[in-house]
Amino acid sequence: MKLHAAEQQQLEQLYLSIQNTTQNFLGYPVSKDFDYSELMPFLQYPLNNLGDPFSESTYRVDSRAMEREVVNFFAGLFRAHTDDIWGYVTNGGSEGNLYGLYVARELYSKGMVYFSEATHYSIQKNVTLLNVDYVIVKSLPNGEMDYEDLKDAVGYHRHRPAIIVANIGTTMTEAKDDTKKIKGILENMAIEKHYIHADAALAGGFAPFVTPRPAFDFEDGIDSISISGHKFIGSPMPSGVVIVKKDNRDRIARRIAYIGSSDATITGSRNGHTPLFLWYAIKKLGVDGFKKRTEHSLAVASYTEKKLKELGIKAWRNPNALTIVFPALSETIINKWQLATEKGQSHIICMPNVSYEQINEFIADVELEMCTSAI
Ligand SMILES: *Cc1c(COP(=O)(O)O)cnc(C)c1O
Repeated sequence: MKLHAAEQQQLEQLYLSIQNTTQNFLGYPVSKDFDYSELMPFLQYPLNNLGDPFSESTYRVDSRAMEREVVNFFAGLFRAHTDDIWGYVTNGGSEGNLYGLYVARELYSKGMVYFSEATHYSIQKNVTLLNVDYVIVKSLPNGEMDYEDLKDAVGYHRHRPAIIVANIGTTMTEAKDDTKKIKGILENMAIEKHYIHADAALAGGFAPFVTPRPAFDFEDGIDSISISGHKFIGSPMPSGVVIVKKDNRDRIARRIAYIGSSDATITGSRNGHTPLFLWYAIKKLGVDGFKKRTEHSLAVASYTEKKLKELGIKAWRNPNALTIVFPALSETIINKWQLATEKGQSHIICMPNVSYEQINEFIADVELEMCTSAI
């Protein structure tokens, strides 16, 4: 069976439009510099990583062995204790956030969740889904959590376990909350029952490679972490990784005879291709590749900030951030370069695929507009 001519044309149109919109794309944190062509033959098979990647399953058209390697790789980068980790490849950072909060709530059903006002919208949705009480803490002007406000809020509810969501790269300004500081606050206040989840959707892919290393991982006090796979690493389908402490996840796993595995994940059927893509990226890049991508992105970010400032635009960025924030430019430029804009502020995120040439083109557009509007 063939597609009708009109449908064939529709497909071609879509292809061209995707090709075109990918060209000018500076505002969202998605890498596009990948080549997974070697994996194309796998698209002919119904891979499904049903159930727990760390236990056997009777459904074996899967990539669970690779999935375990992906989890272990990131667990290593995030300095988790090798004998107390568990995790899986998710559909994205949001699912990992839901999972981390789910584990926290199962641990502390009377817990109060705290997160800052700069937090990604998935957290608000997740606390609603989980039906847990929460407090929104103030953010500092750079987007980082206001630790004094956190202290006050926790003090006010000090009889309840505290579940903190730390942002490791906020959506608008890529601010990183210091989990060591947060842990210190909780210990100083003698809040024994506490849990810290790191939303590292954006910055988890490169935070281990910047100097000074931000405080964000298991050594720095966290209990779980979620990252996106399609952001810093890049993949054709959304993906992510969540890592929790094994002891904690054991409380929520249930053994299901039908799949011959335990049910410890949010969804039942799970993508078997995305773990394969992430595995492939990790093997191809290696730790050195990750470091190089990080260095390149930081250099382009610093260049972009400098160029914008040279035009008299009040651009700034957080320490070692790939995100440059500046007052919103014209509609034409926002649309052309797909710049995320909120409350009068826009940003550019220098993901690894962003090149100096693209930045130069963008800067030329901005400059041209400034000249024409000045006439
Ligand atoms: C992108 C992002 C998310 C959501 O991740 P998805 O992979 O899109 O589900 C959550 N938090 C932050 C800070 C993000 O940047």
